[in-house]
Amino acid sequence: MTQTVGIIGAGLVGCLAALAFAEKGFEVSLFELRDDPRKVDPGNLRSINLAVSDRGIRALKYVDNDMAERVLKHVIPMYGRMIHDTTGTKQQSQKYGLFGEGINSIDRSFLNKCLLDEIDKSLIKVYYKHRLIEVAGLKGSSPTVVFSTDENKRATFDFDYLVGADGAHSQFRYQMQKSMRMNISQDYIDMQYLELSIPPSKDQESPFSIDAHHLHIWPRKNFMLIALPNENGSFTVTFFSPWSVMEQLKNESEFLQFFKSNFPDAYDLIGEDSLKHAFHHHPRGSLMQVEVYPYHDPSGRAILIGDAAHLMVPFYGQGMNCGFEDVRVLMELVDKHGADAFKLYSPSRRDDLRTICKLALDNYYEMSSKVVSKKYLLRKKIDGILGKLAHGTWWIPLYTMISFRGDINYSDAVAREKRQSRVLKGIEVGFYTGAILAAAKALHWWKNK
Ligand code: FAD
Repeated sequence: MTQTVGIIGAGLVGCLAALAFAEKGFEVSLFELRDDPRKVDPGNLRSINLAVSDRGIRALKYVDNDMAERVLKHVIPMYGRMIHDTTGTKQQSQKYGLFGEGINSIDRSFLNKCLLDEIDKSLIKVYYKHRLIEVAGLKGSSPTVVFSTDENKRATFDFDYLVGADGAHSQFRYQMQKSMRMNISQDYIDMQYLELSIPPSKDQESPFSIDAHHLHIWPRKNFMLIALPNENGSFTVTFFSPWSVMEQLKNESEFLQFFKSNFPDAYDLIGEDSLKHAFHHHPRGSLMQVEVYPYHDPSGRAILIGDAAHLMVPFYGQGMNCGFEDVRVLMELVDKHGADAFKLYSPSRRDDLRTICKLALDNYYEMSSKVVSKKYLLRKKIDGILGKLAHGTWWIPLYTMISFRGDINYSDAVAREKRQSRVLKGIEVGFYTGAILAAAKALHWWKNK
């Protein structure tokens, strides 16, 4: 008999999970609290650009190679970071990959719509305007989910398996932890973000007013601005800062002055009117980190994936990539172990998910401050030279392992980086000792000449 699975949340991860289970022959129902986003006026959607990298691409291809190609047709590759200085006149490119690899910019709601288009071609049943309110029967053989619909009616469904992909404030997670011993930690990070936009250029030659194939960063230690390209030539810009920085900007003129003095080139690119509009009307997003363990319930019939299981800050560009990887890892276990898959998933995924949440947090410091430090740049250079020499074998820089080598687990990548870091420190000490000795010798020679 065909097994049934109910997936809660038709965001990026829920959609990919639905396609993956359908591909394996399950009868899939997908529930979403909002209306079909393809019917909604695009002006009402918040625009967030995501960087899709190797882990996300691998998972898409694992589910369906052709589908992955159709979806990824619309990405813009970014081959490095472009660092903008405080004068607004100088830019410096720092390549991401050793061999020309890039991460790929795509609009989050556009990607969601592409996945829903793929779902429409399948046998998956989609229920929009269904808000999960209860999960019951997790101790029995067929768990039940209860929804409230837009007509304020209750709708109840039974499934063999349940997957919670309902995001940061997961109701599924809340329901699960009521009936089991689940550890949950939630930390607000002292950081807000504000979305802005650079419009397409009016120039006939290119619609992009700054280089299209870079992720642009204006690092200012305590705060930063980043910009990712869109297909139409515009850039989605995000301003990240501690809450206190934003709260000190009491009125429009203080906000404009702050932008003008810290990001002069971005100020001109975004435009004064657009900045004024953002100050008054755009919401300030908060950032938090959520960690959960275990991800499955004791009966092995319900599981949490995506942001519902591991909410991380966006500074390594891995939230969705990791959520897509959850789907691939889970489906590989389903293939190998059938009904035991959910139970095996938690211990096999724990270290990796903890590792990437921590890395994501640490990377804020790298993006906002370290990218302009001479010591960091020297280290990066040596790291890159060794990486090139090794050609993906005995030395691989951390960024490469996380973003371009989905075949290496997050936790293995960090363990390996720790070993490499010790060697780099040794090289650095050797370098500085050599420099001091050379200087001493030169001084001695000069005094005695
Ligand atoms: P969501 O996208 O939150 O989807 C959850 C879905 O569940 C939603 O559709 C919601 O409506 C639905 N839902 C919620 N509650 C219920 C309920 N009770 N009943 C039914 N449905 C419900 N990731 C990257 O990989 N690369 C990046 O570059 C990147 N940049 C980012 C930049 C920013 C500023 C932010 C905020 C995030 C970024 N991320 C990035 C992270 C990425 O956006 C998330 O990890 C990803 O969207 C998570 O997908 P999800 O499907 O797990 O959750």
